[in-house]
Amino acid sequence: MVSETFGSQLQENHAEARERVRDISEFDSWINGAGHTTDKTIETIDPVTADPITTVPRCSLTDIDTAVDAAWRAFDEEWSDTTPAERSRLLSEWIDVLRDHIDELSLLECIDTGKPISQARGEVEGAIGTLEHYASTCRNLDGRQVSTSEDLHLYTRKEPYGVVGQITPWNFPIWAAAWKLGPALGTGNTTVLKPSAKAPLTTIRIAELSEGIFPDGVVNVVTGTGSDVGGALTEHDRVRKLSFTGSVGVGQQVMKAAAENVAPVTLELGGKSPFIVFPDADLEKAVTAVADGIFYSTGEICDGFSRALVHESVHDEFVDRFVEKAESYTLGDPLDEETTMGPLTTESQYETVMEYIEAGKSEGATLLTGGGSPDDADLQDGWFIEPTVFDDVENDMRIALEEIFGPVQTINTFSSYDEAIELANDTEFGLAAGIATEKTSLVHNAAADLEAGLVYVNEYGPILPQAPYGGFKASGIGKDLGTEVLDHYQQTKSVYVNLDEPEL
Ligand code: NAD
Repeated sequence: MVSETFGSQLQENHAEARERVRDISEFDSWINGAGHTTDKTIETIDPVTADPITTVPRCSLTDIDTAVDAAWRAFDEEWSDTTPAERSRLLSEWIDVLRDHIDELSLLECIDTGKPISQARGEVEGAIGTLEHYASTCRNLDGRQVSTSEDLHLYTRKEPYGVVGQITPWNFPIWAAAWKLGPALGTGNTTVLKPSAKAPLTTIRIAELSEGIFPDGVVNVVTGTGSDVGGALTEHDRVRKLSFTGSVGVGQQVMKAAAENVAPVTLELGGKSPFIVFPDADLEKAVTAVADGIFYSTGEICDGFSRALVHESVHDEFVDRFVEKAESYTLGDPLDEETTMGPLTTESQYETVMEYIEAGKSEGATLLTGGGSPDDADLQDGWFIEPTVFDDVENDMRIALEEIFGPVQTINTFSSYDEAIELANDTEFGLAAGIATEKTSLVHNAAADLEAGLVYVNEYGPILPQAPYGGFKASGIGKDLGTEVLDHYQQTKSVYVNLDEPEL
């Protein structure tokens, strides 16, 4: 289905929305509590019309040094002396300001990524909820006392690293930034954060909205290309901890760079998540879960259920219902509340997804629906791809092996529990997995047997800050979210205190 927006109207709406975006801010980098400009800049592009939205600075090595210096000064002079309660209060103050800007941040995220406005708003609210969680959790930071003997008091202290380097991708910009900033700041670190140059606007804006709340230098945002700015940040010898979200290939480079400085790394990487539909599944729930898990955010989701593994006895019915569901999405202007699928965020991602669709056809998979751009003159300038479904997919085909990062679903069948688990685990990735069944024993057995950091039963999502999030195998190291992430931003010190016999 295609929405009713007319081409010229769509172009006009977007020109006007881009104007509103430029009125909001200059979108400079944010260093030491102020906007930071550079001679060289990078354009951000509206994925609906392929027009530039605005420019952001292309930071140099010197700019990264300046940001790291500012972050250390803030840490040494003020932030390391704050109590958890003081940090909690400042985070809450920032959250109140962000709450007052939900509409503005949603517009920025929508224009910059092409996400439907309703999804953008949900993610802005999710980001604020995550920060709220860590504003509260950081009040409960503690060490422990270790039992020894009467003449020794032995306890542990958890201390921040100092300056941390954080790198985020373009698919969930504000949400990923909140996942990194909440726990890092709550535990007493200062940060230099690099958003993706492909969608940097909300990250810059939330840093600007912290002005006058945090001491200058506590939050720094540097923009520029991945290899220059990201590389410089990961190689920096005064960055004590790195947290990276992105692709496996870049994650490996980050890990190598971190090894030079023996800096600990958290890596949240890609996925190729399976969803197993068991024979007793409620197919309505299964179809909704798999569709949400591959078509939300135009399939640009790290934990997307891109591989449906369906029991042979329910295959035909599942396929009929799933194709119907795929064809029910409303592709159109992301600014329109009725739109349920926007364009891919970048032209290169559009080309990548189209290449995978061609690979699927040439490898012999059966294309059931989609497979190209929508036949709508209004959407020809944007990077739209229809929800695409391949059946008869074998696990050794590229479309089943590699992360496509677009609205492309593969389906294959299984006949036994063991075969389902074997197919599900037959991947280098291990971010998420899903199952649809009404049987309790199947739920718990499969949850234990699946090699994945997250298991969803009869649904896709939600992602709650209370629970750890992160992958197994090539999908990553360590966790974002939960209480687990707090340990990634703190180092533990053991303190031995000799207690002499009391003498009066
Ligand atoms: P990417 O790896 O290309 O880029 C991620 C970030 O790293 C960007 O900010 C980029 O500018 C930066 N970067 C690029 N080269 C660098 C280098 N040499 N050194 C340091 N930084 C560098 O990934 P992407 O295309 O932005 O995002 C898509 C990928 O992210 C997918 O693989 C997706 O699965 C993954 N992802 C994972 C999660 C998760 O939580 N596991 C969440 C979202 C996205």
